[in-house]
Amino acid sequence: MVAELTHFIGGKHVKGTSGRFTDAFWPMTGEVASKVPLASAAEVDAAVQNAKAAQPAWAATNPQRRARVMMRFLELAARDNEAMAELLAREHGKTIADAKGDIQRGLEVIEFCIGAPHLLKGEYTEGAGPGIDIYSMRQPLGVVAGITPFNFPAMIPLWKCGPALAAGNAFILKPSERDAGVPLRIAELFLEAGLPPGVMNVVQGDKEAVDAILDHPDIKAVGFVGSTPIAEYVYSRGCAAGKRVQCFGGAKNHMIIMPDADMDQAVDALIGAGYGSAGERCMAISVAVPVGKATADRLVDKLIPRIEALKVGPSTDPSADFGPLVTKAHLDKVKAYVDLGVKEGATLKVDGRDFKLQGYENGFYMGGCLFDNVTEDMRIYKEEIFGPVLSVVRAPTYEKALSLANEHEYGNGVAIFTRDGDAARDFAAKVNVGMVGVNVPIPVPIAYYTFGGWKRSGFGDLNQHGPDAFRFYTKTKTVTSRWPTGIKEGAEFVIPTMS
Ligand code: NAD
Repeated sequence: MVAELTHFIGGKHVKGTSGRFTDAFWPMTGEVASKVPLASAAEVDAAVQNAKAAQPAWAATNPQRRARVMMRFLELAARDNEAMAELLAREHGKTIADAKGDIQRGLEVIEFCIGAPHLLKGEYTEGAGPGIDIYSMRQPLGVVAGITPFNFPAMIPLWKCGPALAAGNAFILKPSERDAGVPLRIAELFLEAGLPPGVMNVVQGDKEAVDAILDHPDIKAVGFVGSTPIAEYVYSRGCAAGKRVQCFGGAKNHMIIMPDADMDQAVDALIGAGYGSAGERCMAISVAVPVGKATADRLVDKLIPRIEALKVGPSTDPSADFGPLVTKAHLDKVKAYVDLGVKEGATLKVDGRDFKLQGYENGFYMGGCLFDNVTEDMRIYKEEIFGPVLSVVRAPTYEKALSLANEHEYGNGVAIFTRDGDAARDFAAKVNVGMVGVNVPIPVPIAYYTFGGWKRSGFGDLNQHGPDAFRFYTKTKTVTSRWPTGIKEGAEFVIPTMS
């Protein structure tokens, strides 16, 4: 029996009524896991009306009480951690250990949101002029939305809804239709944690639901994470409708390996960052840039046996390094990129295209692939592959390595491996990328900093999580108040100044 997933509106599971569904799969077996309803504009509107009715009372709940819902949510998420990680791994394909990391990096943002009472404090200036005080306050926007990708089905929904809810908004989550079970669990847990019904809603869907969100006059802000073409589309359509929009897109993250780097550490870092979660991470390293021929030769020689030894297995195998890709269509796309790289003239040093897992022949598996001698003109260098495929681009000098990262159209993450503090400092200062690692391959900032890429990896201002998230999901009101000693002086016709 294939389960039929639901929406979650007004604190209840609600069946889809549009008549449109899509299949979601168990990537490790290839079986259909569930039928996911695809919301119509009318269903999105029903969720918005519910959210709109529930939001004023939630906004009027004092911020400490709102923070206590976050605290309780953390307790419930800890209680359900095993079950949630297993569901996430089955739906997405990543290993259970990696699924726990996905959940944990989301919960860390919920921990940060417990500080909402402090984060929402305004500013105050006493005596800005004679008898005049000025203060500012941060108020919620009303109903806001998050549209999220398949690759972190717990972390990214939590990055979006945590700050929005803690700030007093009602929230509409439109998760990826490929692994929508965990987002539904998140909404259930918020209800159990004491969030009033209607404040957190999940609407399943595809383009039709996204367009309905972007065009809806009662949705005031949209936070999006996904691929760059969709990010750009969501940004322009949402902005045209007068909303606040922030969109985080695709990536091609470079790791520069300097001649003085500890090569064993660099290889370990590349193996984890390139192949973990089958490369389906926006902060995965997909391009290794060794500086100098000797560095490149050593790197490639050490990488080959490590990639050949990677253990690909079902998500439930605790000894697997990574699991299957998310769908058959995505698997075919990644393999087609490997075919293309060969045609473009790159040297395929490790070929994982024919990998088959006994007993799981219909699962969406492939082995790790390694390309050497990749050049800037190749599509496998320019485009995001989003699979277990690492490209080595050889750079003759540090300046060339820096310019590769700077000139690539994506600017999400980047790393440098070196023992030279001066090179690392110069790199961090000059690189045109939003998140930089020094001897750290996946520099995802911790919850109390902010996360965001540059160039075509991010559209709009303000990053996600950290203090920026509270700025994004609130508006600032500034009050200038005067308590005159008397009004006997009469009207003033000159613009007021503080002189
Ligand atoms: P995607 O762009 O296919 O989907 C993202 C969301 O947009 C989903 O909710 C989906 O339903 C919706 N969507 C898909 N097609 C649409 C359309 N035509 N019109 C309107 N909405 C549409 O992305 P994905 O495959 O789910 O996720 C992988 C991508 O996300 C990768 O490119 C990855 O780099 C990126 N990503 C970026 C970050 C970041 O913070 N920069 C984080 C995670 C993932």
